[in-house]
Amino acid sequence: MLIVMKPDATPTDIERVLETIEKLGYKPHTLPGANRTAIGITGNDGSVDPAHFENMPGVADAIRVTKPYKLISKDLRPEKSVVKVGTATIGGDELAIIAGPCAIESFDQVFSVAEAVAESGAKFFRGGAFKPRTSPYAFQGKGEEGLRILAQVRDQFGLNIVTEAMDERGVDLVEKYGDCIQIGARNMQNFSLLKYVGKTRKPVLLKRGLSATLDELLLAAEYIMAEGNYDVILCERGIRSFGTHARNTLDLSIVPAIHNVSHLPVIVDPSHGTGRNYMVKPMARAGVAVGADGLIIEVHSNPDQALCDGAQALTPRQYLELFKEVQAIHQALLPIAV
Ligand code: PEP
Ligand code: MN
Repeated sequence: MLIVMKPDATPTDIERVLETIEKLGYKPHTLPGANRTAIGITGNDGSVDPAHFENMPGVADAIRVTKPYKLISKDLRPEKSVVKVGTATIGGDELAIIAGPCAIESFDQVFSVAEAVAESGAKFFRGGAFKPRTSPYAFQGKGEEGLRILAQVRDQFGLNIVTEAMDERGVDLVEKYGDCIQIGARNMQNFSLLKYVGKTRKPVLLKRGLSATLDELLLAAEYIMAEGNYDVILCERGIRSFGTHARNTLDLSIVPAIHNVSHLPVIVDPSHGTGRNYMVKPMARAGVAVGADGLIIEVHSNPDQALCDGAQALTPRQYLELFKEVQAIHQALLPIAV
């Protein structure tokens, strides 16, 4: 059930609806919009009787939700969400560029990349301190020490920090040091982790699973939002397919598909999406052209020496070129923005 308030509904009208929802034993989710406030109801097993709400002051409509998701939906919030991440935002008119190394390796490695990212004018820095690796013998990340380096990057350059958490302990640490909690592709359907980040008040960057459908991705976001954290950014990072020319198949068609049904911002990861240095720039350009709200790009000063994902890392110089090109495309598209 979705309660749409009239544009002139008062705070008292809204408060009464919230109280009624709670008295029925359900959970209200208030999403204020540009023209009206909508309130999603979760926690109900069966359908909720609209008669509870229809005649209440300030209520425009009580709508039964027939789709599997509620809170991610444009039915709840017709205009796009702009998610605040630290001192910046994702989902507004500005293209959000999140750049940095795959993994935090050392202070010097991180700072040499951070200089280029800050110079470009990007507002977000990435880098993993907890790395989900296929092999247990591969570099697993520097843990809390890596997060401390990231916090220094924020202090020195004013960049907002996006970094992955793989478990609940990691979430607690990322909350302490970072600005945005990344949930990686392999954890997209780790439902207990999704519920846990849903209880935090930090924004969440949710990456699409290796073989996840659109609905599976949206329902994973729904898990986070159902716990009360509405600051979710989705990320297309490539899916498994039969091709061997690229590490993954970057499924750019999911960007308009998400914008068609959801108010959440979506960014594109051409680094993991291709796994090849030379493909990152063209696919980044394509991602912006299909309407992505931002990009996440891996950068390393010495890709040959990288402890993780060197084959897809851009050098700082390549990254700076990419930044200029994608900004030009974004500017050209602003007048016809989706
Ligand atoms: C990453 O961003 O470094 C990462 C591990 O991404 P994914 O979860 O998409 O593989
Ligand atoms: Mn990586």
